[in-house]
Amino acid sequence: MNKKTSKRLVVFDFDHTFVQDNTDMVVFDMIQSSEAKQALWNQYEKGKWTNFMNEVFDYLYNNKFTLNEMKMKLKNMKIVDGMLELFEFLKANSHIFDCIIVSDSNQWFIESILEVQGLRSIIKHIFTNKATIQNGKLHVLNCHSHSHSACPVNMCKGQLLMEYKDEMLKSGTNYISVCYIGDGSNDYCPCERLHSNDYVFARKDYPLEKKISSSSTLSTKNILAKCAFWVSGVDILHEIKHLI
Ligand SMILES: [Mg+2]
Ligand SMILES: [Zn+2]
Repeated sequence: MNKKTSKRLVVFDFDHTFVQDNTDMVVFDMIQSSEAKQALWNQYEKGKWTNFMNEVFDYLYNNKFTLNEMKMKLKNMKIVDGMLELFEFLKANSHIFDCIIVSDSNQWFIESILEVQGLRSIIKHIFTNKATIQNGKLHVLNCHSHSHSACPVNMCKGQLLMEYKDEMLKSGTNYISVCYIGDGSNDYCPCERLHSNDYVFARKDYPLEKKISSSSTLSTKNILAKCAFWVSGVDILHEIKHLI
């Protein structure tokens, strides 16, 4: 029997959790013409977000926007208060904590931002939509396929997290608890799959918090994990410090 390592897993959403705004919207807003924006929205089919973003990338490419300009916009995005302090702590305690990102953005956006913040190396894995670049044009592909009808077709964060935990266990790392940090309604699925020794950190006044608050008033409680609401990354840091 192989010896197992016990660690804690910290899972980060990205848009509105690590960066203050939404990466896709920052890039969409590079389009100046409101008619062009509306025309793109008119093509959007609910639940098919990656298709929509590919239309946006096509438009930008056809209108001579370069990937470098896109990268500059992304690199200038505001980081949520306290998130860099939180990462500094997690980096100093990487013998205790592993960090992953689970996001509906895409690989190229996330890596562009992490790189400039010097954080790429402490993120063990990024689960997100795949990104390819051909002749200077970005194209995104669904993160994976799954069977959870409540989640968007390109991504079920809950399934990805459970599969990752299983895989890590097989290769010798047992996560004694998970800390899930997010803000959006698509962060609810993974939170529902957590256990009583896990933690949910939901951003205050964002959809995940509202969903948790409304579900906990029902007679059946859907989330077993301990829930805390945060405004800044420092609030999370205070809680996580108690875990070591
Ligand atoms: Mg988010
Ligand atoms: Zn799901």
